[in-house]
Amino acid sequence: MGQVIVIGAGQAGASCVARLRNSGFEGGITLIGAEPVPPYQRPPLSKAYLMGEMTRERLFLRPESFYAEQGITLRTDARVTAIDPSAQTVSMGDEVLRYDDLVLATGSEPRRLPAAIGGDLKNVFVVRDLADADAMAPHFVPDARVLIIGGGYIGLEAAAVAAKLGLRVTLVEMADRILQRVAAPQTSDYFRDLHSRHGVEIREGVGLDRLLGEGTVSGARLTDGREIGIDFAIVGVGISPATALAEAAGLGTDNGIRTDAFGRTSDPHIWAAGDCASFPWRDGRIRLESVPNAIDQGEAVAANIMGAEAEYVATPWFWSDQYDVKLQIAGLNTGYDTVVTRRGEGQTASFWYYRDGVLLAVDAMNDPRAYMIGKRLIEAGKTADPALVSDPGADLKPLMK
Ligand code: FAD
Repeated sequence: MGQVIVIGAGQAGASCVARLRNSGFEGGITLIGAEPVPPYQRPPLSKAYLMGEMTRERLFLRPESFYAEQGITLRTDARVTAIDPSAQTVSMGDEVLRYDDLVLATGSEPRRLPAAIGGDLKNVFVVRDLADADAMAPHFVPDARVLIIGGGYIGLEAAAVAAKLGLRVTLVEMADRILQRVAAPQTSDYFRDLHSRHGVEIREGVGLDRLLGEGTVSGARLTDGREIGIDFAIVGVGISPATALAEAAGLGTDNGIRTDAFGRTSDPHIWAAGDCASFPWRDGRIRLESVPNAIDQGEAVAANIMGAEAEYVATPWFWSDQYDVKLQIAGLNTGYDTVVTRRGEGQTASFWYYRDGVLLAVDAMNDPRAYMIGKRLIEAGKTADPALVSDPGADLKPLMK
C-alpha cells in the first residue's frame, strides 16, 4: 500500500490521516507539522480560547496518543523544506523521506504589515497559530487600548473578545464597510451595530498609515490623519495560501495549489486539501478558508488515495461567534444580485442571497432554523420564495418538502 506523507498537521492533514487509517489503509503514514503541537482547532483562537473560556487541552483535535495508536508517525516542530516530485521525496533539512503519495495540507499564512510602516514593532500580533494567541492573550486586560486593523471575521471576533474583557477597542477597515469582501451590506450593518452597542469604535473607509513607537508599538497614524495612542495592535488583513513549497516543486498554482476534482495536483502522486487548495467549482475554481472544507477535503483526498475516484463536491458553510450572536453561513454568495431580509425577535435575523431568483447563500444570526433550512435548500438545488422568506410570521419548514 506504500507510504503516504502529509505535509501540514492542521485540520485538513489530521482529517486525511485519520480517514486513511479508518478506511483500512495499511501502509505507512507520516504527518509532518511545523508547529510544536499536535493538530488543533483554530476557530477558538479568536473566540473562546482567547476569552479564557476554553483550556488548551480542549483545542487538540485528538489526544496525542491517538497518532501512535493508529500507527501514524506524527512529526511536530518539523518543517518540510523541499519536495522532489521526480524522486518522490520530501526534505526536512538534511533528512529525506520517500513517499508513494504526498498530501499538501499546508494551510495559509496571515498577511503581515511591512516593517516600513511599523509591522515589526513589538506587540503587533496576527491571529493564526496557538503561539500567536498565547502571545497576545496577556495583553487582554481591562482598559488596555487595542487597535484592530481589518474588519473581516477574525478582526471582528478579536474585537468582540477585547470589548467583553473591558479593553478600549478601535477597529479600522480600509474598505467602505466591514465584511465587504464576504457579505452583503445588511450583514455589515448588523455587525457594525452590534459592535457599536458594545463600545467598539469602528472606522470604515479608514486605513492604517503607519504604526508608531520605538521598538514597541505605542500609537498609530490613520489614513484620515488622526493619531491614536495604543498598547497593542492586531493585524487581521487576510491570509494567503501556503503555496511556496508547491511552487518550488513546479506544481501548478492558481490562487492556491491547483487540483482537479479529485484533489490531485498537476503531479499524479501529489494531492492538496484545505486552505491551500484551489479546486474546480461550478464554471471556475475556488479556494475555501473554513474548517468544514478542510475536514471534508482532507477525507476526500484520503478516499481517493485509496482509489475511490470520487469527485469532491463542496457544500460550503461557516460560522462566527461575536458576543452573544452566533452567525451561521450556508452556501456561497458570490455573484448575488438580491438580498432578502428575514427579521425575528431581538437579535435574530437572516439575510438570503439570490442570483436570478436562485438561492445562493444564507447568513443567519441566532437563527439556526433559517440556517438549516437554507443549507438544505441550497444543497438540494432548490430556492425559496422571497415573499415567504421576508414574512417573519411565515413557517419556512414546508419549503423543504
Ligand atoms: P491549517 O489549519 O492552517 O494547517 C496547516 C498547517 O500546516 C499549519 O500548522 C502549518 O504550520 C503547517 N505547515 C505549513 N507549511 C509547512 C511545512 N512546509 N512543513 C510542515 N508544516 C507546514 N473556520 C471556520 O470554518 N469557522 C471559524 O469560525 C473559523 N475561525 C477561525 C479563527 C481563526 C483565528 C483562524 C486562524 C482560522 C479560523 N477559521 C475558521 C479557518 C480555519 O481554521 C481554517 O480554514 C482551517 O484551519 C484550515 O485547515 P488547514 O488544515 O487547511 O490549514
